[in-house]
Amino acid sequence: MPSPNATLTGAPGSDPSPAPLPRLWFRGRGDILLSESDGSPAAAPDDWAREAVARAEDVFSMRPQSLPVGRLPGADPALPPPGCLWGTYRTLLGSGSPWGPVAGRALGLLNWRRQTRFCGCCGAPMAEHPVEIARQCTACGNVVWPDVSPAVIVRVERPDGKILLARHAYRDRDIYACIAGHVDTGETAEECVHREVREETGLEVDSVRYRGSQHWPFPNQLMLAFTARCVSGTIRVQESELLEAAWFDPARLPPTPSPGSVAHRLIHGLF
Ligand SMILES: [Zn+2]
Repeated sequence: MPSPNATLTGAPGSDPSPAPLPRLWFRGRGDILLSESDGSPAAAPDDWAREAVARAEDVFSMRPQSLPVGRLPGADPALPPPGCLWGTYRTLLGSGSPWGPVAGRALGLLNWRRQTRFCGCCGAPMAEHPVEIARQCTACGNVVWPDVSPAVIVRVERPDGKILLARHAYRDRDIYACIAGHVDTGETAEECVHREVREETGLEVDSVRYRGSQHWPFPNQLMLAFTARCVSGTIRVQESELLEAAWFDPARLPPTPSPGSVAHRLIHGLF
């Protein structure tokens, strides 16, 4: 299995096209083609890849690695090629594979490209920028670079050591996770921590400490991880965001996000 940074060549043999066939295949929001044998991104046979290219919603060469990337629609009926399966990006990341960050960048760029098909200034189609990792308007020349959306995620702790976890209304409703939210315009990350905890649970915190960050391509977040201490308030959930919030003993946790996620690292004190 080549390393994530290996430059891959095009199809061998009689194929006259010099264009490489995609090496990282995605489907829908986050499925990725993996090898059944070792769980690494799978090298699909050329005949399978050629047919997939014809149905793909996007195919491009990810710079600076020159790594071919493609994505099939979520409803694509294609069976994986022999020896491969459709896994998830989360599974790959949780395995600790060196491909995890590379696949995360690819998925983030796929999401960005889907959202920048047309110019936000004049509405004309966008095309590849000849030099930059960017897209350029074919009519007015407007250039757009990949965007990243900062979001905070916070482990709130009580003086007795219990931590605040919540079930979210719009995602993974049976999983207890940390309070999180997007940084607002004009706001610092620390101010966002105070606001999100207050809005979603009615609690006040202090001792807000930055712990680390992680790219999260659903679709393009940079997750900024914090810890904080609860100083006052009684839990009162914002029902539009949360189903439930409660304090938990770290030694007796409910179902929490899987390894590989920033929430997992925060909840289990791995930062
Ligand atoms: Zn334009």
